[in-house]
Amino acid sequence: MKGIVVQKYGGTSVKDTRRIMNAACRVVSYRKKGYDMVVVVSALGDTTDELIELSRQITEEPVEREMDMLLSTGEQISIALLAMAIHKLGYDAISFTGTQVGIVTDTSHTKARIIGMSSDRIKRALKKGKIVIVAGFQGQNQEQDITTLGRGGSDMTAVALAKVLRAKVCEIYTDVDGVYTADPRVVSGARKLDKISYDEMLELASLGAQVMQARSIEVAKKFNIPIHVRSSLSGKEGTWITKEERKMEEVLVSGVTANKGEAKVTICAVPDKPGLASKIFTTIAKADINVDMIIQNVSRTGRTDLSFTVPTSDLAKVRRVAEAISKKVGAKGVMYDKDIAKVSVVGVGMRSHTGVAAKMFGALAEKKVNIGMISTSEIKISCVVKKSHAAKAVQAIHKKFQLGKKK
Ligand code: ASP
Ligand code: MG
Repeated sequence: MKGIVVQKYGGTSVKDTRRIMNAACRVVSYRKKGYDMVVVVSALGDTTDELIELSRQITEEPVEREMDMLLSTGEQISIALLAMAIHKLGYDAISFTGTQVGIVTDTSHTKARIIGMSSDRIKRALKKGKIVIVAGFQGQNQEQDITTLGRGGSDMTAVALAKVLRAKVCEIYTDVDGVYTADPRVVSGARKLDKISYDEMLELASLGAQVMQARSIEVAKKFNIPIHVRSSLSGKEGTWITKEERKMEEVLVSGVTANKGEAKVTICAVPDKPGLASKIFTTIAKADINVDMIIQNVSRTGRTDLSFTVPTSDLAKVRRVAEAISKKVGAKGVMYDKDIAKVSVVGVGMRSHTGVAAKMFGALAEKKVNIGMISTSEIKISCVVKKSHAAKAVQAIHKKFQLGKKK
């Protein structure tokens, strides 16, 4: 055998039985070339969203343990069907749940982290000549309860397996050709990138470019696992996510993206005293809420407004926590704004070039898009704008940086 290849098929690549057969054919074609195959699958199509919707019809805040019990069923359907499809092609395959292959996680239901994994069962099956199929997105905590790894968590399963199995490559199959300079549905001139660094991909993913789960890229980076994001519907090369190369720095900006999944929360008229920000954000962190951008205004009155953004999906939880804190610290109440989008540019070239922010703000100004909040990191600049301005903003920035032209 030539070594192990890990492939992951996302929901769109197994959305119906035809696509499942298509995935099976691809798996078998690699097998014929002499690779040991370990295949991770997501739930069929929009199954996970549909399951979430079902739960919402019953309650806004389901107990998270039960949520995991529910959501993990999606992947169990797809692994069985893919195994059957491979059998039909005359090859031996066996499907496993996360529990069966010993994926152990912490207890943080709905966004659990993998803390250990055994590869024995998979290796035994491979030795017997089987194609191994593993349910993505799920694991089990030390109390033997089923957990899930956060939305898009099948990527995490795939990357983690690639690591423990020392796979040659981790292929991520989706319904687009790879990673683009912008969402091609929004920007007609968006261009597919041949290569992108882990850091850039990490930023793009956490900024809402829904190609791969951000956490999985952190793991890939840590262990230097080469990832190939590509389409399950064509034979074309996709985008390689790899270590940063010198040449990558010559490109100022690699991509522009918009995230509409966040809301802005403002705690109004917080007394301007040392220690309050710490108190507020410690309480929020304890509630397991991920805060993204934070701004606080200079206070001239002894009180200050404190704004931050959180995932819209956490808003119910945020409301409860923020209102309690507001009372406790003697603030004047909490305001929410769901009508926002975070538009960002990303590129490792920013480390060595200046003027990117000015150029981005210029593009927004020309289109009369108002900026609500700004944040920057070493390789990223983000602006909060009105949701309805997001597409226009992304298009303008894409054009300004000439991202459609091959560099
Ligand atoms: N089915 C899960 C989700 O939709 C996991 C995944 O697709 O990676 O989030
Ligand atoms: Mg999915």
